[in-house]
Amino acid sequence: MGDQAIPARAYVLTTEECSVFDALPTAVVVFASDVILYANTVALQIFQADSIDQVLGQSVHKFIHPLDQERVIARIRRAETSHIINPPTEFRIYTCQHQVRIIALTSRTLLIDGRIGLIATFLDMTERCAMEKRLRDSDAQFQHLMNTMQDVFYRTDADGITRYVSASVRNILGYSPDEIIGLPAAAFYPDQDDRKELVEIIKKQGYVHDFPGQMRCRDGRIIDISISSTILLDETGQYAGVEGIWRDITQRRALERRLEELASRDELTGIANRRFSLEELEKRLSRYKRHQRDMSVCILDLDHFKRINDQHGHLAGDKVLREFSRVVQNELRSTDHFGRLGGEEFLLICEDSSIENTTSLARRILQKVSDHSVAISSQTSIQITVSIGATAMEAGDSTISTILSRADDALYQAKSEGRNRICWFAEMLLRDEI
Ligand code: GH3
Ligand code: MG
Ligand code: MG
Repeated sequence: MGDQAIPARAYVLTTEECSVFDALPTAVVVFASDVILYANTVALQIFQADSIDQVLGQSVHKFIHPLDQERVIARIRRAETSHIINPPTEFRIYTCQHQVRIIALTSRTLLIDGRIGLIATFLDMTERCAMEKRLRDSDAQFQHLMNTMQDVFYRTDADGITRYVSASVRNILGYSPDEIIGLPAAAFYPDQDDRKELVEIIKKQGYVHDFPGQMRCRDGRIIDISISSTILLDETGQYAGVEGIWRDITQRRALERRLEELASRDELTGIANRRFSLEELEKRLSRYKRHQRDMSVCILDLDHFKRINDQHGHLAGDKVLREFSRVVQNELRSTDHFGRLGGEEFLLICEDSSIENTTSLARRILQKVSDHSVAISSQTSIQITVSIGATAMEAGDSTISTILSRADDALYQAKSEGRNRICWFAEMLLRDEI
């Protein structure tokens, strides 16, 4: 060190003169050849020194944290040779009590007792750094949550413009937040009215929970979503937008639909089951009341089905039921409903169908069923017939049971008249009158 040139404009001090720094409110340390020659009171406090001897005459290396040694020593060497004022730097130190602290330090060259040394002033940053770390950690956690969560957090303003959307949106819609923020939220709805309805409800009741909706992804896929959001109001209580989360429930919806489908199917024949068929009749009855368009309801019952079971076995009977269902289905329009009420009894609802239309459909069914033969073994196939009891929906019908009981009465009539035929409830009345 002694052979180094003395930098121009260096401070010149003796160790005794350093006492002028004793009362400074900031920490001051003077050292040369890495040996501490002076430390003021605040510095001793930061070093947690009980006596000045724990610091004076000690190497600065002793106080610098091993992970910061290289960097800090390099700065000292640079300052010694260039007399620059080292800009502030933060590093870890060990105190005399073996605690780690973080200090922010600046230093510059001086001549101390005729030798090149450094004067350093520093602040204890431990508390502030701990707070910053906590802030950083919690922000990192927040960002991580926003990136990885299944839900999308969003906020829109009073005009429906997206002002914030979490990064998780990319995993679901395929757009980055930047591509969404600033655009109307409705732009991502396949049906614009859905978004209007959502906002109207939020405005009215203040929130929505598990509200159903749909969104369009970048690749064009439409996904089912569930929205839970609350209203945002400004200082004057005016509507300022909505904030909340939505999540992709496409898979859940598909599963629900599949379960609904399974719950509404008859296992043997694959057509609608009793529960679904009766619900369908309810629905169509209320539709009939609104529009009063012709509708007929038929019960179809296989003739002498018990005999088939008795003679050929239950499995043959099952096959007959399956094939019968298929033959009937082939004759129907998409608006007709056909389901199995149970056993060998079926329900047929013909919407928008006059008595004449339904009669001709029924005759076609009678024909196709009797023409069809069911192969129950390589040698044996059997013929079947069906009887149909029909009734037209009436203005006074208030429950489905009155309609079903009329169809049932007509079916009874068809059976008693010799089977393999259709009988209308109205005809029965006429015949009774005659
Ligand atoms: P009718 O012409 O008067 O209708 O006589 P039927 O023999 O068809 O009527 P009945 O009500 O006496 O017999 C219906 C039979 O259907 C009795 C029952 O064992 C049978 N059955 C009910 N459900 C099933 C089923 O899922 N599979 C089979 N193979 N048979 C069934
Ligand atoms: Mg029966
Ligand atoms: Mg029968």
